[in-house]
Amino acid sequence: MLRVAVVGSGPSGCYTAQSLVERDPEVHVDVLDRLPCPFGLVRYGVAPDHEKIKSLQGNLRTVLEHDRVRFLGGVQVGGPDGLPVERLREMYHAVVYCVGAATDRHLGIPGEELPGSWSATEFVSWYSAHPDAGDEGFLRDVRSAVVIGVGNVAVDVARMLVRGAGELRPTDMPQGALDALAASAVTDVHMVGRRGPTQARFTTKELRELGGLPRTRVTVDPADLALDPAFADLSALPAAQRRNAEVLRGWAEAPHEDTERRIDLRFFRRPVEILAENGRVGAVRFERTAPDGHGGVTGTGRYEDVPAQLVLRSVGYRGVALEGLPFDAAAGTVPNTEGRILRDGTASPGEYVSGWIKRGPTGVIGTNRPCAKETVTSLLADAPALASREVPQDPLPALRAAGIDPVPWPGWLAIERAESELGARLGRNVVKLADWDTLLGAARAN
Ligand code: NAP
Repeated sequence: MLRVAVVGSGPSGCYTAQSLVERDPEVHVDVLDRLPCPFGLVRYGVAPDHEKIKSLQGNLRTVLEHDRVRFLGGVQVGGPDGLPVERLREMYHAVVYCVGAATDRHLGIPGEELPGSWSATEFVSWYSAHPDAGDEGFLRDVRSAVVIGVGNVAVDVARMLVRGAGELRPTDMPQGALDALAASAVTDVHMVGRRGPTQARFTTKELRELGGLPRTRVTVDPADLALDPAFADLSALPAAQRRNAEVLRGWAEAPHEDTERRIDLRFFRRPVEILAENGRVGAVRFERTAPDGHGGVTGTGRYEDVPAQLVLRSVGYRGVALEGLPFDAAAGTVPNTEGRILRDGTASPGEYVSGWIKRGPTGVIGTNRPCAKETVTSLLADAPALASREVPQDPLPALRAAGIDPVPWPGWLAIERAESELGARLGRNVVKLADWDTLLGAARAN
């Protein structure tokens, strides 16, 4: 029998556990998570109005309910209060780290830390009820918002900023975020890319959705499209970029109509400074850029200020070093070969990675399946050597001895019940619990 710990219960952790138990009838897997709730970014990153993607939780749930898989929530690995990596390693034949990319990339420009300037991750965590997120008054006195970056997260936050109460109420968004978004006075959201429209990272389905939002018009300046050399012949572009370009061209050519809210997509503008007004964000200064002919851009020395009371920096996630594991700070990943963690260039027996901490924060949820499969192939090839090491029959007593009292699967089910009850009390569907005390209270009351 092989005992494996998977650290992280997001898509990459669940797909890793699934691949392990499907491919080896002798494997038992504990899926550990810092939070008492499973599913990682499917619960705390996928936008609440994307019910179809959120329904993937059903598939991940099946994995965690497998009879050779056990969910153990509330287990922090690494860090000052966490279980040391070395200790965890002693408890299992193998450990697979699927800890994702827990923080955001920084712009490194003046004004980035001004009140009113937030990472998209902070904003997403708030409306997704992440227990570490605070109600920062994101929308207070905001009429105009700037979203920096043109990836799918930027599209998500732009969309959430213009959604109305009627559309948000059926979601599982916490009541505080729903009330704040419903009362929001935001009329203009400017989503700004530093390169050209055909280099944007959003996918067509997500982009197109912006055009169908009630009371909202999407505006695109035809001059931004004309500046992109690829627009001269869209047929030469790869299909995904061509589809994006066609959607953008449709908006650029659409007749102007008056709407309550606007999403303004701009390109060829590089953020250089966030400007203050009365000690808070007042505008973002962009340098106009021009294509350099190789997919990049060069500065033109011309600047433009876009007024905004809220800035959401949506320029990608970043992996965080886990104490006791090697880390490539430039890439934000754990060095590995086919999922085997490399210590000083050599594969470390019994230590693996999968998901964003292995390959960086790119790809959709499904990308984690082949990624997990590759790591599991490496692990199972190593299994004969790993299984010869003595490990505890059941690591739970050792975890408890280390001062950790994990939240088991029934604890999570109790949280789910509490969220249904809260929804019923508020006259809504399921409503997420948004703070540590309430989550743990519900879990322990089961
Ligand atoms: P992303 O796709 O990497 O996009 C990041 C954006 O930030 C790019 O437009 C990038 O521009 C820009 N950027 C980076 N550094 C910048 C800087 N210093 N100044 C200005 N702009 C800068 O990241 P993401 O949007 O966070 O998404 C992460 C992953 O999750 C992606 O794979 C995404 O598809 C996925 N996701 C999927 C969905 C969905 O399927 N519905 C939803 C959310 C997220 P450059 O290209 O010029 O670097």
